[in-house]
Amino acid sequence: MKSNRLNTWRQSTQWRMISREAIKRWNAKRETLPKCGARRKRDGLPCSQLAKENGRCHYHGGTTPKGDQWGLVQWPNGKAPDAEAKLQAKLKRIERIRKAKAKRLAAMSPEERQRYDQRAKTHAPGPAAERARRRDDRKRAAEIRASLETPDEKPVSAELAELQRQAAALEEARDHYRRLAEQEQAKQDRGVFG
Ligand SMILES: [Zn+2]
Repeated sequence: MKSNRLNTWRQSTQWRMISREAIKRWNAKRETLPKCGARRKRDGLPCSQLAKENGRCHYHGGTTPKGDQWGLVQWPNGKAPDAEAKLQAKLKRIERIRKAKAKRLAAMSPEERQRYDQRAKTHAPGPAAERARRRDDRKRAAEIRASLETPDEKPVSAELAELQRQAAALEEARDHYRRLAEQEQAKQDRGVFG
């Protein structure tokens, strides 16, 4: 039988030699390939998996789609023979991730939650153009806010400064005349009692 012949070949010394050499060659080549730059949970060192195009391995975002599909769930190819099983597995995984996320959100402090919400706003998934539009909106809103907060304050504050200067000058003059009056009074007092 064919499978028997295959098994005999796989157990032969020659097959083992060929396999060992192939693995050695691959390991030597693997050393030279770019690695994922993410920090691994186990010890905080850089991940040693092979990096994909974007510099991350498939565990650390290497398969995150680009462009219009950025951050969106990717569904299995419907024409694949095991498409249904893949879809079910994917749905299960999404549900598991959703539950874990809900747990993580519930355990967050208000500050952490605020940071999370902020990032969710700036890193929303979807088409690049849509994200760029939202980014522009945020920028414009920030500019408008900034211009409302510091509107025509300079003229106002310049006016105020001028008024304050005048008030200070008037107070100084008042003090000056008060002093003169006091001196005059003192002279008169001495005149009466001296
Ligand atoms: Zn990695």
